[in-house]
Amino acid sequence: MYWKENGEIFTNPDRNLESIDDWPPLPYHLVDIDKCVMVTEFGSRTINYVSSYGCPYRCSFCSEVTVNHRSWVGLSPELVLDDLEKLQNKYQINGVNLYDSLFFVNVKRAKAILMGIIDRGLTLRLGNVDGRAKQLAEADDELWELLRESRTYSILCGAESGDQESLDVIDKDMDVEDNYKFAEKCRKYGIKVIFSTLVGIPILNYTHQELEKKTDGQISSTIKMLDEFLSFDSRNRGQMFIYMPYPGTPLYDTAVKLGFQEPKELEGWAHMKLYDKQTPWVTPEQAQMVSMISSYIFMFLDSDTILWAKERIKNPTKKLFFVWAYKLFAGIARFRWKYKLFGFPLDYQLFLFAKRNNKSI
Ligand code: SF4
Repeated sequence: MYWKENGEIFTNPDRNLESIDDWPPLPYHLVDIDKCVMVTEFGSRTINYVSSYGCPYRCSFCSEVTVNHRSWVGLSPELVLDDLEKLQNKYQINGVNLYDSLFFVNVKRAKAILMGIIDRGLTLRLGNVDGRAKQLAEADDELWELLRESRTYSILCGAESGDQESLDVIDKDMDVEDNYKFAEKCRKYGIKVIFSTLVGIPILNYTHQELEKKTDGQISSTIKMLDEFLSFDSRNRGQMFIYMPYPGTPLYDTAVKLGFQEPKELEGWAHMKLYDKQTPWVTPEQAQMVSMISSYIFMFLDSDTILWAKERIKNPTKKLFFVWAYKLFAGIARFRWKYKLFGFPLDYQLFLFAKRNNKSI
């Protein structure tokens, strides 16, 4: 915490993460639960839930490293299961969107939670459970069996890149090959994966021209990797983001050295948008292409999208029109992906216009 007294700036030292088991249970009765539920592919009444904080890994682009200093703390399996049971029985929740930075840090604990879901007969489904490709590729069959038996719907995985040099630069501590092994495991056990990836990564001593070329390489190698993964299961989904420098992260200084212009005031950070390019070595064309692939093409390639999106529209006429328009755009997106045609994004612009006017997309 920072504060100012008589013009002087004071700061408290960072606190360590402390056990959260002794904290009082979340007071769900104080909020209107119906305002917190949403339709997802794994539940008509899905709620966000956090069972742990932090992450012990050291990915140099990630805010976890700075915020929680590579520490981790998780609620005991019993308390997580009590929460899930309450959410299901008292609030009719049937889908839980796990918002942990990394759910599988303590595999014994993860197994106990999955086992508890089975033993207590809970029918709600976990989705978007965050996991590392290398750790899960190497996990034993017991964990994978439990994921299947507990009907865990999907895993969100920071695959990051199909380019090994990029994985090394961000200290991902894994090989591209680990992504392939992990994707195969998910295919074998019937679990959907959301593969999150990153391009435009800064590399020290590269010129802007070299970084621009490297970004092209990151995009093409990642597309090649995702092309294969998406073919494993029509529900699999890709995500592609442009590197965004977060203050305090190990990669931030590199980005500044390479020419990233830091906002001079706090307000400047408020204008940073997810798909905007923030660094000079990413070209506007690359930024537009990444944005189109991630927020448009990947969305339509995911066979689950239509299921939840149409359920969010209540008006029957609007729903009919939505389904018709969806099929049209999905056809174009699939054609673009099949032939890797990302130029002349008129359909994408039209989609963005429709999205601005329809909050259910
Ligand atoms: S990217 Fe994922 S694994 Fe890496 S530090 Fe962040 S939360 Fe942990």
